[in-house]
Amino acid sequence: MARNVNAKDGIRQFVVGHLETNCYAVVSDGECLVVDPGAQGTQIAEALDDVKVIGIVATHGHHDHVGGVRALKEATGAPFSISRGDAERCQHALELSSHVFDVSGGSVEDAPEPDCLLAEGDVLKVGSRVFRVIESPGHTEGGIVLLGEDVAFVGDTIFAGSVGRTDLVGGDAEVLMQTLDRLKREIPPQTVLLCGHGVATTMERELATNPWFA
Ligand SMILES: [Zn+2]
Repeated sequence: MARNVNAKDGIRQFVVGHLETNCYAVVSDGECLVVDPGAQGTQIAEALDDVKVIGIVATHGHHDHVGGVRALKEATGAPFSISRGDAERCQHALELSSHVFDVSGGSVEDAPEPDCLLAEGDVLKVGSRVFRVIESPGHTEGGIVLLGEDVAFVGDTIFAGSVGRTDLVGGDAEVLMQTLDRLKREIPPQTVLLCGHGVATTMERELATNPWFA
């Protein structure tokens, strides 16, 4: 498992699973919020043994974003949150993806029943950091973006130079375009976008270069 510690903003990144999903751990004042543990939940827990994991959140319910939730929750006792729209999907994530991906092996399991259902405007706190939930359907019905002061976890809604596919169950290209239109207004340009796969970018860069924002 690749690990990269960004000491400056206290966000640790783990690349997990066969689709190389970015799992992020926001660390602030000794507390930790884990975003998208897509696989290897046990190893993620071990890598975070120096902090108190107070929450696990998924940007959406695809197997490569929730596959490590169960093991991470068992290891840490932290509650699991996801949007209402993807709450059902995440508990059958492997089956729902099995026609497109080989989901066998790789420390991936269906998510447990969520402890908390997130909706537009909800706020997640970890240490002195705060993240606001923005509902961002399109890639799935229940996708969310978590917007902090200087960073946003955008899941598979925005990638550097691209956007998430809409041909999987629950995807809708028209809805995604509406979401992108809204995110243009909601996310300040200087915000660093931490994507579900691939490299980080900024809203400013995507507005200037991403053809989906044209
Ligand atoms: Zn996805």
